[in-house]
Amino acid sequence: MRCPYCGSTEDRVLESRQNTTGNVIRRRRECAACGSRFTSYEKTEEKPLMIQKKSGELQEFNLEKLKKGILTATRKRRIPQSVIDNMIAETEDAAEYAGRKTRVISSSLLGDLILEKLKAVDAVAYIRYASVYKNFDDLKRFITEIKQMDKK
Ligand SMILES: [Zn+2]
Repeated sequence: MRCPYCGSTEDRVLESRQNTTGNVIRRRRECAACGSRFTSYEKTEEKPLMIQKKSGELQEFNLEKLKKGILTATRKRRIPQSVIDNMIAETEDAAEYAGRKTRVISSSLLGDLILEKLKAVDAVAYIRYASVYKNFDDLKRFITEIKQMDKK
């Protein structure tokens, strides 16, 4: 996004909010060059992104739900709000990108996208989220992942 004050394209997202019909995303941004704050409105695809649950049931992608999941996992972890906001925005972008053709992604893919972001930021938040989201079948893989993280 280009800063309307100085023209720089480097910015960070302070806050993302979906409108009530879910097709416009309002983002508060801060320019990394001059520090000005501005708001962008991005129209998402006309067709909402659907999340397919393991049962096969389709549910409309819900930004608030994504936010809640990430906030719960990162609670009291002293992670800067800007980092959390970026994680939320980036996960949403990744989900939109993954579903760009069919407008449907599986709930397990969405979970993996969130885990990927958490893993890069905070190991505890990652484990918290994984312990809620992963089912028993994934347990073996999960334990392997944690062991690999220990080695780093
Ligand atoms: Zn600027």
